[in-house]
Amino acid sequence: MAGIRLDAVSKVYDGKYLAVDGVSLDVADGEFMVLLGPSGCGKTTLLRMIAGLEEVTAGELWFGRTLATGLAPKDRGVALVFQNGALYPNRTARENIMFPLRMAGEDPAAASEKAAGLARILRIDAALDRLPRTLSGGQRQRVAIGRAIVRRPKIFLMDEPLSNLDATMRTELRQEIGAMARDLKVTTVYVTHDQVEALTLADRITVMRDGRIEDVGTPDQVFNDPATAFAAGFLGTPRINLMSATVRVTAHHRVSLDFGAQAIQLPPIDRRSLILSSHDGAKVIVGARSDAFTPAADSGGPGQLSGRLRAIEFHGHQWVAFVECGIEMVNPDLVGLQRPSQAARRRIALDGTTRTRHAAPHGSGLSTRLSTIGTKAKARLGMAGLPPDAEAPTTPTHRRADLVLEIGAGSGLEPGGKVHLAVDTSRLHIFDESGHRVDRVTRAQPAERSGTRR
Ligand code: ATP
Repeated sequence: MAGIRLDAVSKVYDGKYLAVDGVSLDVADGEFMVLLGPSGCGKTTLLRMIAGLEEVTAGELWFGRTLATGLAPKDRGVALVFQNGALYPNRTARENIMFPLRMAGEDPAAASEKAAGLARILRIDAALDRLPRTLSGGQRQRVAIGRAIVRRPKIFLMDEPLSNLDATMRTELRQEIGAMARDLKVTTVYVTHDQVEALTLADRITVMRDGRIEDVGTPDQVFNDPATAFAAGFLGTPRINLMSATVRVTAHHRVSLDFGAQAIQLPPIDRRSLILSSHDGAKVIVGARSDAFTPAADSGGPGQLSGRLRAIEFHGHQWVAFVECGIEMVNPDLVGLQRPSQAARRRIALDGTTRTRHAAPHGSGLSTRLSTIGTKAKARLGMAGLPPDAEAPTTPTHRRADLVLEIGAGSGLEPGGKVHLAVDTSRLHIFDESGHRVDRVTRAQPAERSGTRR
């Protein structure tokens, strides 16, 4: 077994395209780490670099105390499962799982015994003597997982292993994967863009965006105490409300969040009040999940907002209300991207096409971002020749939209009517304009998997 350390690891494809940008991350021995993020954020690239299938352009990769950056894939003790774990069609499930052991010269009876043990964990023991074509997609994927893990790799890597399965099978196999990881205590890195998989499986989640890390923490930390507005927006359904506000400080050092047409006051003892009290007039982004609001009987009070109920939707286990409050909302996907004045965007020719990417968020400018890449990579990238701020982003960062909140059945609220909302200020997350939390986010670094979370 081994932990994994990524030290300022970058990947530049074809000498031109920066896919992973100076990522530093520790995965503890036996930990289940989920890489979560939107399509194209660099999750698979990171996983493939750990597996040795992609060269690391800059930075170092460590497995325990071994520098693994230049190790051949076969010398890494790593097993990898993809979306479609290909099986040997003419071998039974048992023979497929045993195969790596047989190749390593293990005695057939012992190998068969180990395959049967794994099959029990993966709940395919009844299908062990069947050929792959007679198995369901979920069973085949279980066999592929069994085959990958049977030699007890030091590190187990999975790249969206459930994405080709139907919802029921996904849920089942997700539970089996969780049970297996718990039993075998193998260091696991699991790539997904599915927040439910991330929240249910992970010891810790790494939220990625645009080749970089936005947040790393336990599911509870990342969901309830997100480090950035993007991470807050990526987890949770409905998506978190991000409201544009201005800090107002009264003569008595009371802090209000001024949304324009209305405001809410933070309690004086709130630690954000202390931080914001010297920032009168500062622009902030206030995040509130849909369950941080409760319909109230009347307006007024320092912790209330009012608006017009535009629509109510039935979502099965909840009702979701859309309330027009005249508040400027911020799009989580765009927050933190460069504003026109700061935009240092790169145009990178790739296969004859022109791609444009946003540079780093406010406060970590392009030069800092590129400084994480070694000189060799810089030379290959031709950094000196990068285009200047040629184009400003054309998509507006802010939009006017509704507050989205959950309401109980039988609330009596009718679309078109006025609604007053009590806001649980303790559940507000306050970010600066670049999307970083104004207050400190605490993150414990777990040692070995304790097994207490599940
Ligand atoms: P997805 O969830 O869609 O698989 P991802 O987060 O795993 O996305 P990657 O596959 O790692 O993202 O890709 C990161 C970026 O690198 C993408 O913009 C992708 O287009 C680019 N990329 C990936 N492989 C190559 C390659 N071989 N050559 C050039 N660019 C690549």
